[in-house]
Amino acid sequence: MTVTKGKTPATNVASADNLSAVNNAEEVKQKPVAKTKAKTAKRTAKKPVANKSTANAKITDCDPCDTLAATFERQFHGALCRDEQAVNDIYSALASTVKSQLLPQWRETRLKDNQYQQKQIAYLSLEFLMGRTLGNALLSLDLTQETNDALTDYSANLETLQEAELDAGLGNGGLGRLAACFLDSCANLDLSVVGYGIRYEYGMFKQKLVDGYQVEQPDRWLREGNPWEVRMANHAITVPFFGHTESYVDPEGHRHYVWVDTQDVQAVPHDMPVPGFKNGRINTLRLWKAEATDDFDLAEFNDGDYTEAVARKNLAEQITMVLYPNDASENGKELRLRQQYFLSSASLQDILQRYITVFGQDFSRFSELNVMQLNDTHPSIAVPEMMRLLMDNYGLAWDQAWDITSKSVAYTNHTLLPEALERWPVRMLKNMLPRILDIIYEINARYLEEVAHQWPGDNHKLASMSIIEEGPEPHVRMAYLAIVASFSVNGVAGLHTDLLKKGLFKDFYQLWPQKFNNKTNGVTPRRWLAHCNPRLADLLNRRLGEQWVTDLTQLTALNAFTDDKAFMKQWQQVKFDNKVDLAKLVLEECNVSFDPAMMFDVQVKRIHEYKRQLLNILHVIHLYQRIVAGDTEGLQPRCVLIGGKAAPGYAMAKQIIKLANNVAHMVNSDPVVTPYLRFAFLPNYNVSAMEKICPGTDLSEQISTAGKEASGTGNMKFMMNGAMTIGTLDGANIEMLEEVGEENFFLFGLNADQVSQLKTNYNPQQFIQQSTALQQVLTMLKSGHFNLVEPGIFDSIIHAIEDPFDQWMIAADFEAYKVAQDKVSQAYADQQHWTQMSIRNTAASGRFSSDNTISAYRDEIWLAK
Ligand SMILES: *Cc1c(COP(=O)(O)O)cnc(C)c1O
Repeated sequence: MTVTKGKTPATNVASADNLSAVNNAEEVKQKPVAKTKAKTAKRTAKKPVANKSTANAKITDCDPCDTLAATFERQFHGALCRDEQAVNDIYSALASTVKSQLLPQWRETRLKDNQYQQKQIAYLSLEFLMGRTLGNALLSLDLTQETNDALTDYSANLETLQEAELDAGLGNGGLGRLAACFLDSCANLDLSVVGYGIRYEYGMFKQKLVDGYQVEQPDRWLREGNPWEVRMANHAITVPFFGHTESYVDPEGHRHYVWVDTQDVQAVPHDMPVPGFKNGRINTLRLWKAEATDDFDLAEFNDGDYTEAVARKNLAEQITMVLYPNDASENGKELRLRQQYFLSSASLQDILQRYITVFGQDFSRFSELNVMQLNDTHPSIAVPEMMRLLMDNYGLAWDQAWDITSKSVAYTNHTLLPEALERWPVRMLKNMLPRILDIIYEINARYLEEVAHQWPGDNHKLASMSIIEEGPEPHVRMAYLAIVASFSVNGVAGLHTDLLKKGLFKDFYQLWPQKFNNKTNGVTPRRWLAHCNPRLADLLNRRLGEQWVTDLTQLTALNAFTDDKAFMKQWQQVKFDNKVDLAKLVLEECNVSFDPAMMFDVQVKRIHEYKRQLLNILHVIHLYQRIVAGDTEGLQPRCVLIGGKAAPGYAMAKQIIKLANNVAHMVNSDPVVTPYLRFAFLPNYNVSAMEKICPGTDLSEQISTAGKEASGTGNMKFMMNGAMTIGTLDGANIEMLEEVGEENFFLFGLNADQVSQLKTNYNPQQFIQQSTALQQVLTMLKSGHFNLVEPGIFDSIIHAIEDPFDQWMIAADFEAYKVAQDKVSQAYADQQHWTQMSIRNTAASGRFSSDNTISAYRDEIWLAK
């Protein structure tokens, strides 16, 4: 890879220079300039034209005290206008303007937090699926009206400009979006939280469809620059790789270790603002970019190998080049481990430097004032890294360092799927992070003594609980490392936490029951209701006032209106208008015409066998068969939408996308069918798409095999926006059902216990024989009806359904699913009743605000405020 040969040990003791930089929040670029006439100047031309003479003015020269309109005008005229009235240029000018408006509050928040007056939380995550920033920032800063006014003379309106922003797609799905919702809630709750992540040059790939197959295209989201970020070059941090460990004994007889001959990479922070909702707090998402150190490979320069040395710079910068697009499966690639260590080391050094600025190298108060929350095991290499920094850089003894580390690290588990559990080959660590591996071995040795004490003489226990998995290729079990070092281990929904305690982490639960706790996920009502559904937000504001935005439990007041005819009518109108918008999106993206008078039945999420998009497609085929056979009695006309990305290496998931598209083609091209059924696969599902999808959905599909979906958060967004759920007893569905009541939820299928029972002798044929509908669907699939010119392409799917080892149990749940869907149809036919159920769903969604989730993290894990 890189770059600088660490000539000295990899001790990154904060330099005086670094320390002063920590408090220099002023370097958040903004140079107040004298108030200009622009403030009052009236635009003369209807269409602003680039002013050549000022075209090179510094874009950061804007006065935060100036009005938004004046700053915007100066931004647009003075700097960015490359192509007069191009939407992208207006967007850039507007984004820079809004950023300049929030800089003073951002700096104030930082200065206050640097004084350590409250507990500091670091949320470490390899993923932050932020989506767009503009709309949310305007909402939080209460600038929407002012912005609209400032735009009156421009060719693009605010909605168009928002559409011009590229999503920050720095995550795969639920886990990354959770991190984004959490940051929003932390700012809203006035908590001092820094999100630490990676500034991937390429975020989640863009999904195109070619012949119904997924094709991945790179997401160069930084192509036009990122007007929201602030590069903090003098907070850069050095992260070591490779090299080897040496040790020496000091005059007092203590052994010390040094990591030498390292190849160092610079981590340069790029900060993004995270505004609280109208409360003056602006937290920070600090994204690290990898860069070569300036003095890279000087030796090679001297050897005359200049171009080689410069070319090698790229190797350092590769670390933050691309997000790994795997959801719920581990990857095992060396570059991924490099990303994990890079994030962990840079973030911890940053946290320690901030602490030292206030308290010096007295770490006795560190764990009382800091928590590092690990979003899954992805950043769990932070555990040995924290030990290394405290011991090797600051001279602490093992026991002191362990006391601090194990009292400040908390771990959130996100999955029960064995294929998602991270394990790194010992060999890889030995090469890349030799000092870290030493420390992991030592942690393991000390911890196994505790295991031996608890289960004397039980060697099997020692082997099965060891952080090191022995075998021909020994591995480090990252989840075990995280559990051993954390004071808190939490699951993300009640069922998930129970299953962790009973299954995957049973032994650890026996050893340390006090560590385990549940924190059911949530979603932010700012983005997922106030921002994405302005029509409903408006209706809620008029009926309930605006308090619900920061206290979502107030929505229970809606239950009083379930017999209010006028209100129900307004509710229906909001849903209808949102469906019109969604239909527009589907027409543009899929060229399929959705009729808002029909039911909108939606399943959007990553494509994965456990989420069972296949079950949904089989049901669509069943409906298709009924319609073609003229059996339309009691059938409700519906438009079915599926969307989501498959991991590029996940062949079965990609086949499922192809099947959906082929079935959609048959459905939509048959004029006998389309009055009753339309079916589309929406390409490139992302946060911005979801902002249009969830407000326009009638029926939300949450149909995972019970026991497999840790929580789900898509389910909550739909519920908040008044969709009914058809779902299994899985993840947070269970708690949603609890809140809204069985009569307002379409429940079906095996529960988690039944799934694990049935697994031992599952016979799909038995279920197929009991379901005429499923037989007919399979017969048609096997006939090649959906792939006449592509014989055999769905054989693997058919085989999977009939496989006794089908752990997703498609055949077992099909009939129950079909029956539940029939009930959906019946219920939808009674629009009055459906509307009441819809209102009750929104009313009951308060518990699933991430404000609620974060309050529980604050009170029960972080013990902050
Ligand atoms: C909410 C969300 C998810 C998570 O959806 P699940 O249904 O919980 O898997 C994934 N991707 C995006 C873009 C989201 O907004």
